[in-house]
Amino acid sequence: MIKTDVIIIGAGPVGLFAVHQLGIKGLKAEVIDNLDKAGGQCIELYPEKPIYDIPAIPECTGKELTDNLLKQISPFETNFHYNERVDEVIQEKENWIVKTNKDKKFIAPNIMIAGGVGSFEPRKLALKEAEKFENKSIFYSVTNKEVFKNKSLCIFGGGDSALDWALELSKTSKVTLLHRRNEFRGAPHTLSEIKKLEKQNKISIKTPCQLISIKGEKDIESIDIKYEDEKIEKIKTDIILSFFGLIMKLGPIAEWGLNMDKKVISVNADNFQTNKPGIFAVGDICTYPGKLKLILSGFHEVALASVECFKRARPNEKYRFEFTTSSKTIQGRLGLEKKND
Ligand SMILES: Cc1cc2nc3c(=O)[nH]c(=O)nc-3n(C[C@H](O)[C@H](O)[C@H](O)COP(=O)(O)OP(=O)(O)OC[C@H]3O[C@@H](n4cnc5c(N)ncnc54)[C@H](O)[C@@H]3O)c2cc1C
Repeated sequence: MIKTDVIIIGAGPVGLFAVHQLGIKGLKAEVIDNLDKAGGQCIELYPEKPIYDIPAIPECTGKELTDNLLKQISPFETNFHYNERVDEVIQEKENWIVKTNKDKKFIAPNIMIAGGVGSFEPRKLALKEAEKFENKSIFYSVTNKEVFKNKSLCIFGGGDSALDWALELSKTSKVTLLHRRNEFRGAPHTLSEIKKLEKQNKISIKTPCQLISIKGEKDIESIDIKYEDEKIEKIKTDIILSFFGLIMKLGPIAEWGLNMDKKVISVNADNFQTNKPGIFAVGDICTYPGKLKLILSGFHEVALASVECFKRARPNEKYRFEFTTSSKTIQGRLGLEKKND
């Protein structure tokens, strides 16, 4: 069981800035996200698009914003638990216990839900038989590429993930890239690299085709694909990697007994606490009169919520409002003492 002051659910821009606002108040946080990296919508939906309404930053991309937020919170040495979805929230006296789908447990007096529009989850293969092979020979993400070394891989998808991994894994494995259209959506540069490898017989490309069946008992032995002209081809393979994009699922958050308004959590705009004391909701996932789903609104919300988190985590201490420009305590927490001497 991991003990901390605040459990943050979601490593989107708002969850990341929550680490900062808690950290300068001396509170420790653990951050959990279902994705394999920080940044939420900014990194998953528009990493290269410029944002123009972050105060004092005239222009930055989703990736640049994420990188800068990570840099800003680096002094706090926070633990991030990626590829884990928070499934359960249970009350234990003054504390909350949070359980993930990988059976990791956390305990804290505060939970900050910065879950955005819900957890990003891979769009899975529609075939019924796909389920029994999941995480054994069917994968929707790559966490350890060693698993795929010296294997026959069928990589499905037409976007950047499918192209990037086809290129990368072709260095150590036999790769077949399959897509339901002739045109790929991924970066033209990556595609031209793959086409070069195809000419050298190092990668095989099959389009336009769909997966129609998976054969095998314990492990996958082969798959059948169907082309537009109804022709069926059998391909021997050890592993399927499928990159059909992500869907956003509110999922378990709806079952934690929180007051919801459609698909968002109602909060008190004084401190962004939900109807459960110690559970806060911030960023796109929360609603209150006048709520704007903007990053800057989320930044304001975590500043206020973190004050209430402090009161719950340190009931015997008085909260003191301080400026970062003048507070030696805050500067110490940011590791700046030496720099300012
Ligand atoms: C194309 C586009 C352009 C945009 N442009 C702008 C703009 O110019 N300016 C602006 O201010 N805003 C913009 N936005 C909106 C902005 O991106 C969102 O307001 C912001 O991302 C919300 O941040 P968040 O941290 O609340 O949630 P998110 O960014 O959605 O992050 C939430 C995270 O929580 C995780 N999560 C959810 N549930 C769970 C769970 N149960 N367990 C584990 N993890 C979970 C998700 O995987 C996700 O990573 C834009 C949005 C889009 C889609």
